[in-house]
Amino acid sequence: MILTLKQASELLLSGEVVAIPTETVYGLAADAFNPLAVEKIFLTKGRPSDNPLIVHICSLDQLAELTPAIPASARTLAEAFWPGPLTLVIGKRPEVPDIVTGGLPTVAVRMPDHPLTLALIRLTGPLTAPSANRSGTPSPTRPSHIADDYNSSVDILDGGECKIGIESTVLDLTSKPVKILRPGAITAEMIQHKTGIETMYTPDDQKDLNKSPGTRYTHYKPKATVRWISRIPGQFKESAYYLLHSDTPGDSEGSENVISFSGDFSLFAQKLYDHFRTADWLGCSEIIIEDLPPDQFHPLLPALRDRISKASGGEQSDYARGTQD
Ligand code: AMP
Ligand code: MG
Repeated sequence: MILTLKQASELLLSGEVVAIPTETVYGLAADAFNPLAVEKIFLTKGRPSDNPLIVHICSLDQLAELTPAIPASARTLAEAFWPGPLTLVIGKRPEVPDIVTGGLPTVAVRMPDHPLTLALIRLTGPLTAPSANRSGTPSPTRPSHIADDYNSSVDILDGGECKIGIESTVLDLTSKPVKILRPGAITAEMIQHKTGIETMYTPDDQKDLNKSPGTRYTHYKPKATVRWISRIPGQFKESAYYLLHSDTPGDSEGSENVISFSGDFSLFAQKLYDHFRTADWLGCSEIIIEDLPPDQFHPLLPALRDRISKASGGEQSDYARGTQD
């Protein structure tokens, strides 16, 4: 059912789960301080219980409810980037239920940049929410994706299509130097430029995988096999779905299976999961993605590379392997 703001807040306060919009992807939300409600998120999604959730807040006062002492770096980053797609991992108060943090002594927090959800959190208090997809399918970026995943059995606060389309940057403020556990729309360069805080990103470090359990699971995967290509083929297979960042070749004009973003990487990120889902719906056996340019700068390129590599089961692009010829 599509809910009004009032209905959504009443359901959440009575311990139910509701799908909520954010600027990144839709979340499946519950009252962060109600362990029984949070358990319903795991049951609904089929999510492993050691995979911690992000707590969504609407003010710095709410941050103080979650952590014993707000670190100075968290305050600086919050002022620079919140509301926005940046999640901060900090020490947790004992009142934050273990089920939210997967038993970790830390909690992941962010203030989403969506007016409906900020208004909702003002009524409910902090809401914890992972992405609203059924565990193992791509994150939802439109209400129809959630209806498809759960056969319309999950209630939704409809906030339209998500602006960014891929999940937030996750920063671990408990490590020195500060570590990027997951790349997103806020990059290391933006953080350095706006706050002077240096960060490290070591995607293959096993210790980081253990620190951010979500990164261990098969994420962002459609049913079709995802793979990279370094050159656009002369002919397009009907059984495959193509995502190209360069211009559409003339002979594919009008084909519903060949999508070109003409260098617009923001649009590529916004539509990535939507296209994964369309390819599955069309019954395509493969999703073939043009290698992302190694020499171009765009803030969404590291996050796009990360999500596509995970969707392809860890396969790297030809450029990343250094074998483009
Ligand atoms: P999702 O909500 O599905 O986008 O996933 C949330 C991400 O945040 C996962 O990759 C988690 O591993 C990560 N995360 C949540 N809480 C923590 C925490 N306390 N420490 C480290 N990573 C966390
Ligand atoms: Mg997720």
